[in-house]
Amino acid sequence: MPVELPPTAGVPLRWSDLAPRGESDLAAAAAAWLGSGDALLTGSGTAALVVALEALKTLAPRRRTVAVPAYTCPLVPLAVVRAGLLPVPVDLAPDRFDLDPDALATAVDDDTLAVLPTHLAGQVADIDAARAVAARHGTFVIEDAAQAFGATRGDQRVGLAGDVGLFSFGIGKGLTIAAGGLLVARDPAVRAALHESAARLLHRHPLHELMTCIELLGYAALYRPSMLGLVYGRPLRRALARRDVIAACRDDVGLGVPLHRPGRWRARVGVRALARLHAAHATDSERAARRVAALEALPGVRVCRGVPGSSPVWPYLLVQLPDAAGRDAALAQLWPSGLGVGRLFARALPDYPFLHGVVPAAAVPRARDFAARTLTIGNSPWLDDARFARIVDTLRQSLRARAKAGAG
Ligand SMILES: *Cc1c(COP(=O)(O)O)cnc(C)c1O
Repeated sequence: MPVELPPTAGVPLRWSDLAPRGESDLAAAAAAWLGSGDALLTGSGTAALVVALEALKTLAPRRRTVAVPAYTCPLVPLAVVRAGLLPVPVDLAPDRFDLDPDALATAVDDDTLAVLPTHLAGQVADIDAARAVAARHGTFVIEDAAQAFGATRGDQRVGLAGDVGLFSFGIGKGLTIAAGGLLVARDPAVRAALHESAARLLHRHPLHELMTCIELLGYAALYRPSMLGLVYGRPLRRALARRDVIAACRDDVGLGVPLHRPGRWRARVGVRALARLHAAHATDSERAARRVAALEALPGVRVCRGVPGSSPVWPYLLVQLPDAAGRDAALAQLWPSGLGVGRLFARALPDYPFLHGVVPAAAVPRARDFAARTLTIGNSPWLDDARFARIVDTLRQSLRARAKAGAG
């Protein structure tokens, strides 16, 4: 089996993490880690969003819409619909993953239950801008920090600046228990509503739990370059061979949203892996800092970063190229190469065929452009300097070829 590097830096598990004994209150451990008084564990980030929206509905029963970034995980609008609400895609700010403040001001009104500023790629989104618009309409702010557990702004972890913070412990999100999600909230009334909604909606499902435990064992065994080709590289190259970009991005999610509670054993594994998260983040940041500089030395190339003064986490680098054709040329070589290069979400939300009827049609040109001009470079420790240099060379050649084509 050839070497296959992961597209995101996860916390590799140790066999000792899998022991059947030990602390199993992952919600409490994660809350302590985040500096939140309390947290609630769910079966996935998507389930966490359903729980949050159902909770906020009890606090503002007449509101019916949820403003979401037009470029985000396709599971987000599915959760909104599952909660009986209508997702409203909001275009991005120019050359950023943040919600555009003007587009947001247009999208949010007195019917908007919540707005979801989203911290992509471990980078810290502009929560203040979203809060300012939300405050004018009594709309709640849910921070989607599914990809940013541990990022900070000032001396506060992301997830605690809005009314509700949401994290994912799914595979590919850094710390993982195969599938899991976490909710935090500062306000006691919102917290109480979250717990009530979770008690109403979440249940244990032994067969589903057993299958997810097997997945977590699979992650422990296979999250390494010598094995990852089997579960990640092979299906990826098959999807690319049939030009199925949505499957290659693993965006081909099922329409159902399971609402389960993770079992004790997986929670224990999470508690033990959490103890190594600080150390993992520190080496990830140091590696990323050098690589950002190397990438931004290429003409017109930018690594997406959060608001000034924030400390991101770096599961992967989200890289924006000057044009879509150059991005596609680079990906044609790099995506199937096993180097951990790929794409984030395949399309803007209104452009997924399987979301027609879920997400209303909308003009979201910047979200489309962002989907067309970005690629991701995994920030795992296995991407050594020599392999990273190969990626930079390929990018340089693709950009040069494009510049020539443009000039000629
Ligand atoms: C992954 C993700 C989710 C959903 O989390 P799951 O745990 O996969 O259900 C929500 N929002 C964003 C931005 C994500 O990346």
